Parts: sequence; structure tokens; C-alpha cells
Amino acid sequence: MERLLEQHVSRANGATLDVERMTQEVLRRLAQRLEETNGRLYEIEVPIGISVRHCHLCQADVETLFGEGHSLSVFNELYQKGYFAAAEQLMVVGKRRCIEKVRVLGPTRSISQVELSQTDALMLGLKLPLAVNGTDPAVAPITLVGPEGVVTLPGKGQGGAFVMRRHVHLNLEVAGRLGVKEGDMLDLRVTGPRDATLHGVVVRIKEGWRPEVHLDTDEGNAVAIRSGQSGILIVPEALR
Ligand SMILES: [Zn+2]
Repeated sequence: MERLLEQHVSRANGATLDVERMTQEVLRRLAQRLEETNGRLYEIEVPIGISVRHCHLCQADVETLFGEGHSLSVFNELYQKGYFAAAEQLMVVGKRRCIEKVRVLGPTRSISQVELSQTDALMLGLKLPLAVNGTDPAVAPITLVGPEGVVTLPGKGQGGAFVMRRHVHLNLEVAGRLGVKEGDMLDLRVTGPRDATLHGVVVRIKEGWRPEVHLDTDEGNAVAIRSGQSGILIVPEALR
């Protein structure tokens, strides 16, 4: 009986030791992490903008579609300073059907591109790649119809249609605090009736940008987020 009691006590002591050791280990890791972060931020709250289907045009295409000498006029300013929704709208031609009144965003760019959702692509009868801009070799050819003319974007990296990858606009300072660079993939946590964490939010950096995540309408609807709401941008473990 005495021996049994002895065994029991020593086992209990062993368990106590384990808990203590685990607690020590957690504290040690925490201290290590605080030291490692060096003032870095791993999470920040950012506003989310939902991008509805739209086009960016080069000046030559603006003139073909809207008339010689035409320049885009501001319909309303966007959250990012210097960018605007133009008064101009276009028809996008697909294989199955067309979508009218697709908004042009300004200012003009060096090549034209059309950013659509996956739902738009299905409606149009087009197979579109995920990309971050019109110079991606996978972008698809597409035809645009304006009041004064027609343009067919050639695709294959020379301008075309695609589904925009979810991305975040950051300025140099915020990117520095997060310790991330152009092209890194972050996570975005959204709370609400359709809580979710989205992975693969591509980092884009430019001086003067306001931190802002861009999702398309399919993604916004999937997680019940509307423009102007915010989410938590998270630097994933792999980048810490
Ligand atoms: Zn964007």
C-alpha cells in the first residue's frame, strides 16, 4: 500500500513538473517572439474596397472608343488619391452575351485591361485567368464597344481581360512596419455573418497609397462585406 501511494505521488509530481515545464516553454517562446518582432506589426486593420467590374484604358483606346482627342472625365474620385471613376462606360463583348455600362477608371494607363468577376466571366462565356494586371501572359483577348468605335484587346500580356487577384494597396511606411514586400501574400480576416479568413492577398506598394484591400464583387458577397467595412490584415507565419 505504501509503495502504491509513493508511485501515485511521484506520478502527480511528474504531471506538475510537465505543466510547469510547458508554462516555462510558452513564456520563453513569447519572450523570444517579442524580441524577434523588433517593433514589427503583424496585424493591422484596413478598409476594404469592393471592385465592381471595370476597365482601364490607354489614351489611344480612349480615342478609338470615344472619339479623336477625347479625354476621360471624372465621375467621382476614388478612395486612392488621384484615381477616379470616369463618366465613360463601355460594352464588353463575350461569347455568350455582352455586359453593358462597364465603368472606365482613370487616369489612363500604358495598356488597356478589363477586370471582371468569375460570375461575369461565366455570364459572358469566357474563361478568364486570375492575374494582377494586363501584362500577365495569361490575360484573355476581349472586345470593347464604345459610342465611337470598337477595340479588341489582344490578350497574351498585351492587355486583355482577367479576374483580379485579391490584393492590398500599401505605402512604403506601412509595408515597412509589416515587414512585407511587393508580391508577398497576406491573410485577411473578416468578421460578420459570414466570418472568414482569406489567404493570398497580394501586396502592392506605392508611395502615397492609403492602405486598402481590394476584393471583387464575388469575394465581397461570399464573405458578406461591403465597401467601406474593414478587415484585419495578417502577416502569415511563413513571412514572420
Ligand atoms: Zn486595387
